[in-house]
Amino acid sequence: MNTISNIGVFTSGGDAPGMNACIRAVVRTAVYEGKKVTGIYHGYQGMLDGTFVEMNSRSVSNIIQKGGTILKTARCIEFRTPEGRAKAYENLKAQGIDGLVAIGGDGTFTGADFFSREYDIPVMCIPGTIDNDLYGSDYTLGYDTATNTVIDAIDKIRDTAASHGRLFFIEVMGRDSGCIALNAGIAGGAEAIMLPEKETAIDELIDLLERAAFKQKTSTIVIVAEGDKNGGAYNVAKRVKEKFDYYDTKVSILGHLQRGGSPSSFDRVLASRMGYAAVKHLLQGKTRMTVGLRGNEIILTPLEEALNNKEFKLSNDMLEISQIMAI
Ligand code: ATP
Repeated sequence: MNTISNIGVFTSGGDAPGMNACIRAVVRTAVYEGKKVTGIYHGYQGMLDGTFVEMNSRSVSNIIQKGGTILKTARCIEFRTPEGRAKAYENLKAQGIDGLVAIGGDGTFTGADFFSREYDIPVMCIPGTIDNDLYGSDYTLGYDTATNTVIDAIDKIRDTAASHGRLFFIEVMGRDSGCIALNAGIAGGAEAIMLPEKETAIDELIDLLERAAFKQKTSTIVIVAEGDKNGGAYNVAKRVKEKFDYYDTKVSILGHLQRGGSPSSFDRVLASRMGYAAVKHLLQGKTRMTVGLRGNEIILTPLEEALNNKEFKLSNDMLEISQIMAI
């Protein structure tokens, strides 16, 4: 136990606000514990290229409030092959790295799973993705910030929608997960929310919009998650327009602005807690675990369990609330 002397930390997959705060927490906890820390640039690609940097407490000064990731991120195809992972292992060994903290989404977790089955370097994983689509944590890093960014956009679009009496379709991120759409939709007072997890027929939507018009709403906002089965906000808007040609319909795709920006206080604290816990548990001999938040407690979930389970994070209550609040 506690034979680890040099912890490698990296970010991988899509960037998310809070990744920097998490790197900071990993570095400072490791330093506090008297360990060396090595930053690995560009995720798994950096293990293959040997782009390592020794870090100390000052390397992570003034980053807690910054979006993106100072260690950069990348998608690395070679790491998917046994030969690629063998090369990564050789490079990590040569650098003296004997423990890893991975921050990323399910692809990152899968890479860590393969690697830690094949090689003797302990790994802890931290969920960093705006989609909130990972099992083992109520919240992933970046999700709260992204939701707040979407709410800000909805509020602004609402101003113009209300002034012109328009119907807006706002497309938000979430290929498989409707967490951002549902929560931002409720917080932004959306009249309808279309989610990947729950198919909304266009007829059903039209019916709902007709009722909204009947109730003399001055503006209507429909949130469409990018993974909605009707093919995205443009498609939905086109099909609705065919029915209501008198409606002044507009589409706004929020896109990548949802990924950036300064992390919310929630994400900064969560990142600090997760980074701290990952290092503490790694040093206590744990490996192949993901760190998560349940209620207000930090928990560990075996990596295999996290990868083999899907969590339905949209409660029926939330779905009903979204409908009731739109009447
Ligand atoms: P996001 O949720 O933001 O997309 P992610 O971590 O799921 O983040 P991916 O691009 O899917 O992002 O995965 C990140 C990296 O993890 C990949 O580029 C690859 O290097 C590694 N990875 C993914 N799947 C595997 C796999 N099956 N075997 C080995 N490595 C993998």
